[in-house]
Amino acid sequence: MALKITKREADYIKIVYEKSLEEQHKVTSGLIAKEVGVRTPTVIEVLWKLKKRKLISVGKAGEITLTKRGLKLAAILIRKHRILETYFVKELNLDPTFACKESSNVDYLLSSEVMDRLCSVLGNPCNCPHGKPIPYENQIERV
Ligand SMILES: [Zn+2]
Repeated sequence: MALKITKREADYIKIVYEKSLEEQHKVTSGLIAKEVGVRTPTVIEVLWKLKKRKLISVGKAGEITLTKRGLKLAAILIRKHRILETYFVKELNLDPTFACKESSNVDYLLSSEVMDRLCSVLGNPCNCPHGKPIPYENQIERV
């Protein structure tokens, strides 16, 4: 998927994906604002762009869900993020929290080709340094 997105958009997509998987309660603009440490109006502005690009949908109660397209993009982003942070921790001995932050700065910019290569160099790991699963291409196709 050749889709140009900003770091902020990538961050929000990843948050919606992770929060809706990991938590029972609804993902709202307020929850994302709390997560990234910015004001809710700032979040709403970015969410509006994501909605226009048909990556998320917003329900009547303000609950945010990923569209089919958004879910696929999220899985690709999470895959890139987790492969890169695995590399940072395993090969560069970086602290997992620092590796996570550094990975977020560049993960969305790198191509799937580079990530696939990196993944095989790492021995196709199943989990990231935080123990979360790394999505694989065949799983992403199904979403
Ligand atoms: Zn991370």
